[in-house]
Amino acid sequence: MSDNQKIYVVGHKNPDTDSICSAIAYAELKRRITKETYEARRAGNVNEETQYVLDYFKVPAPELLESVVKTEEGKVSVILVDHNEVGQAVDGIKEAELLEIIDHHKIGDITTEAPIYFRNQPVGCTASIVYQMYEENNQEVSKEIAGLLCSAILSDTLMFRSPTCTPKDKEIAEKLAEIAQINVEEYAMAMFKAGSNLADKTPEEIFFQDFKKFTAGEVSFGVGQISSMAEDELFEIADRLKPYMPQALKEQGVDMIFFMLTDILSESTNLIYVGDKAEATIEKAYKISKEAGDYYKLAGVVSRKKQLIPFFMDVLQ
Ligand code: MN
Ligand code: MN
Repeated sequence: MSDNQKIYVVGHKNPDTDSICSAIAYAELKRRITKETYEARRAGNVNEETQYVLDYFKVPAPELLESVVKTEEGKVSVILVDHNEVGQAVDGIKEAELLEIIDHHKIGDITTEAPIYFRNQPVGCTASIVYQMYEENNQEVSKEIAGLLCSAILSDTLMFRSPTCTPKDKEIAEKLAEIAQINVEEYAMAMFKAGSNLADKTPEEIFFQDFKKFTAGEVSFGVGQISSMAEDELFEIADRLKPYMPQALKEQGVDMIFFMLTDILSESTNLIYVGDKAEATIEKAYKISKEAGDYYKLAGVVSRKKQLIPFFMDVLQ
């Protein structure tokens, strides 16, 4: 790595608020403590929720990083935040020089040739880890960074309602809210509302707001999610997504696609799906059978990471 080479800090594809905000905050921390050129990047479009957050705190969106394939100048250096799966990472990740991973998801399939700094903590949000790293390095958090990190925690934990949320996340978010001068409840409501305002979006845009791919043995599947505080809005979104899903199945080259329409207030998910084995997978995973309609109602399920992926992995592996 040459002296003035940039190091990119980047979250997963179809970035959510955590992937964008943790990348910005962690790049800032690394610049401060190392004096090297760390720059935040995004691995896809900024969604409506994240745009609301960036506008609120007047922080520009990171530039797009389309690929990290090796160039004539050599390998591209990257730090991954909020993911550690090849399928979710920016294109060319296998050719990049991976320096660090900061994440709160299950350990995935990214491998390296040399040891790296790999920090994985079972907390509700990468932003909670990044905040701890500011503290460990005795670095103050600015109002803007506090706002971004707090937003990421509220987003990932669905305002502390998700089972992925730990007491640590809540404690950190409350500290950050004070620095950022926001009222958590009011701010979170406005943020989620911005995120589910999909009136001007095509079904495809809605679909890719938050979509991730997974593999279990020979089987690959994708899971999207949209959360809202209004159930009506979720039914509308479902109606718009359903006709697009078969096309997504083909284009993504996966065996099944599931889409979680999560009602934050009632803490439940309506699950729509496509793919031959999708129904069987859901029924085995949750030991339920379908009543009526073309979706499954999963009471108490709000977290893709904790309440859906592990069950599907179990069934499929
Ligand atoms: Mn994420
Ligand atoms: Mn996250």
